[in-house]
Amino acid sequence: MKICPKCDAQNANNAPVCKHCGANLNEIPEANEPEIPDDKPPYHLGLALLFFFLSFAISSVKALIPENIDYPDYSKPYIYLYYGAMILGIVFLVLGFVCMKGLLKTKPLPGKGIFMIMIAVIVSFLIFFDVVSVAQSVILGHNEDEIAQQVETMEDSLS
Ligand SMILES: [Zn+2]
Repeated sequence: MKICPKCDAQNANNAPVCKHCGANLNEIPEANEPEIPDDKPPYHLGLALLFFFLSFAISSVKALIPENIDYPDYSKPYIYLYYGAMILGIVFLVLGFVCMKGLLKTKPLPGKGIFMIMIAVIVSFLIFFDVVSVAQSVILGHNEDEIAQQVETMEDSLS
């Protein structure tokens, strides 16, 4: 539906001129449904945060599983819980990134986007370097040499 700017008559969308007064209608944009604003819903931010929190919580569950991951015993179900927690942690991390996609599209990067990236980086660090498990073994009083070895491995992977 096109509204003539001169006489306000209603014309068909493909009408080149106004059927009422003959005015040129080609330069008038088609007035269809109002354009849906491209704003990303605010819940994306909360959802991303929730996924990052779940990722962190699930990955930290690994620390409670009494299994030496350097010498995994595949006859015990714990080992599958360990790997399951690891995979779920990564899945939630990816879901968090997917929720951030809308935030990252806007340019320049908003403060919220930078904040979410920082959280994502911290959670990724905790998962991949198993920081929570190391802390847990310190609290539980595991073999000191074992912990030293774990820290060494961590330092090696960082450099
Ligand atoms: Zn007209």
